[in-house]
Amino acid sequence: MRLLSCLQKWPTMTEKIPQNIRHEITRLVKELNEHSYRYYVLDSPVISDAEYDRQYRRLRDLEERYGCVLPDSPTQRVGAPPSERFDKVRHTEPMLSLDNAFAHDEVLEFDKKLRKLLRSDEQIEYTVEPKYDGIAMELTYRDGLLVRASTRGDGYEGEDVTQNIRTIREVPLRIEGALIPREIDIRGEVYMDTDEFEALNRRREKQGEPAFANPRNAAAGSVRQLDSRITSSRRLHLACYGIGSVVGMIFSSQTEFMNWLRTARFPLPARMAVAKGVEHVIDEILKLEHDRDSFPFETDGAVVKVNDFGLQQKLGVKTREPRWAIAYKFQAHQGTTVIREIHGSVGRTGVITPFAVFEPVRIGGVSVSRSTLHNWDEMERKDIRIGDTVVVERAGDVIPHVVTVVKEKRTGRERKFPVPAKCPACGSQVVREQGEVAARCVSLHCPAQLQEKIIHFASRGGMDIEGLGEKNVELLYDKGLIRNFEDIYRLKKNDLLDLPRFAEKSAHNLIQAIENSKRATLARFLFAIGILHVGEYAAKLLARNFRRLEDLFGVQKEDILGIRQIGEKIAASVSAFFSDWKNLQVFESMKKLGLDLANPDFVSAKKGRLPFEGLTVVITGSLPIPRKDAEALIESQGGHAASSVSASTDYLVAGDNAGSKLEKAKKLGVKIITFDTLIKMAENSGAQQRLFS
Ligand SMILES: [Zn+2]
Repeated sequence: MRLLSCLQKWPTMTEKIPQNIRHEITRLVKELNEHSYRYYVLDSPVISDAEYDRQYRRLRDLEERYGCVLPDSPTQRVGAPPSERFDKVRHTEPMLSLDNAFAHDEVLEFDKKLRKLLRSDEQIEYTVEPKYDGIAMELTYRDGLLVRASTRGDGYEGEDVTQNIRTIREVPLRIEGALIPREIDIRGEVYMDTDEFEALNRRREKQGEPAFANPRNAAAGSVRQLDSRITSSRRLHLACYGIGSVVGMIFSSQTEFMNWLRTARFPLPARMAVAKGVEHVIDEILKLEHDRDSFPFETDGAVVKVNDFGLQQKLGVKTREPRWAIAYKFQAHQGTTVIREIHGSVGRTGVITPFAVFEPVRIGGVSVSRSTLHNWDEMERKDIRIGDTVVVERAGDVIPHVVTVVKEKRTGRERKFPVPAKCPACGSQVVREQGEVAARCVSLHCPAQLQEKIIHFASRGGMDIEGLGEKNVELLYDKGLIRNFEDIYRLKKNDLLDLPRFAEKSAHNLIQAIENSKRATLARFLFAIGILHVGEYAAKLLARNFRRLEDLFGVQKEDILGIRQIGEKIAASVSAFFSDWKNLQVFESMKKLGLDLANPDFVSAKKGRLPFEGLTVVITGSLPIPRKDAEALIESQGGHAASSVSASTDYLVAGDNAGSKLEKAKKLGVKIITFDTLIKMAENSGAQQRLFS
């Protein structure tokens, strides 16, 4: 049996964990990973979701109770609190990019050149697979265990995104079912399905975030998240197709390697054909191009590789591209048309997005007459004007977009369309912060945003008013009963009884729920009113620092910047929000209607400071508890858990096998403490009890 790795490092803890529990933890990890593989990679689950959840909870309970987490435990997929930046990773073998071919002739040329280099008339065997439009990734496994995932970066040095890649369910945390090399770098593409891409953009629109232009940007943006919990919330996929450095195993061809990947349970590209001779390669490319729209993901080409690794080695590399592979780019579904109008449309959270109205044109069998221009920066960058002749592209199910302006067709009568100064829906001033892509209407009175704002206000994470969901808000809005937040507190039972969806009991319940919400906490309220950039966490931080809602009125950016963990963007937005006279008026009326917020989160200066209040703490080496728990402990004590040591680090918690960070901390004179000291410092407030009981 494989020893629990945390037990190897923490022999003293072994005695505390009974053998049967150790066995159970090992068994649960193995079984849950097996089920995950069946569910996410094979798409044929053998147990119900409920049963999976039950086993998962059992494992999590045991891990918490005994403070022991296996490195391949599925509980490690949920993400960890944000880190400050990504560490750099040097690739053992450089991750090269591929040369492109845009026509079949160029593929023939490629083959001819290879045979010339090899001085052979024999037909070369190739593999052909769809080219995924995502972000290239290298996964490093040591003794079968995923130890690192890194982006390609510049090909030689990428970023360590292990924490984020762990959250992708298809990524094996431990290689199972195959012979295991001592160390292997597996390459693949992290991508997002087109369905998920569109759903994500709809969610972002709702939350007031700018939409991603394409699935590739969405995947890259999700992988490069400092907060892996966000990555975890995006449904990313992986397709493995390549090999970097390998120690302790030899593969002779791409197909052999792909077969190993399959038995080792890695997700593979949707299709991989073996083609002997270039004519067959062209056939396979044509087939892929024909089927491209039927794939659930975006593909813009085919990758052709020499199958034999021996030949690959002979052919070698020219500057930054391998000679033995080429990426064939498909023809995009494109058309040319003229932009008649450009408008700004207000999303339900106030983001104003430009869109173009075209002379209708048929592209890939579909008539296209309008397209989003995504955002103002993109429009500016492409210099898109009213009256311009443009190339419009449609790929798969993805919404059409303007690729480029045909500048030769300009007559001089084209007009630029500036970011509107006034909201097209309500006429309020539009706000566009420095460095922000999105332009927004921030008025609380904008009808385009109102319904969505009220739904958010009443939602469970907000004021938690049961019965005030989407349908009822729509109804009450249509009947003119709710036009702003304060109207909620003006509702009477009799108003509701006249409406089709309400009876005596449901009307009573809603009024009661509204009544109860008047005594919500300040933190909830600050989240519920939907201040730009203020999520639940920031709302809580504000509530910790401001005793009453009124204390925030007219608050200056600098006052808020004094709070650790609140940055420029949030501070500016909060200050702007509480300086808007109209907003303050809304709060005044709500108070008159009985709003009476509690604030249990407020930390008075008199209560004494938390042990890590305002301090930056870095953890290094192995600890007897999961790292994310240790970080949570630091945060609960007012500290900020950072990932790298710098001059501004206050403490370094050095666990077992601490390495370079410890050295650096010593050099910089950072105070170094042990895990036991950390626990002792935290003990006073009782927070530690909550974490470990
Ligand atoms: Zn507006």
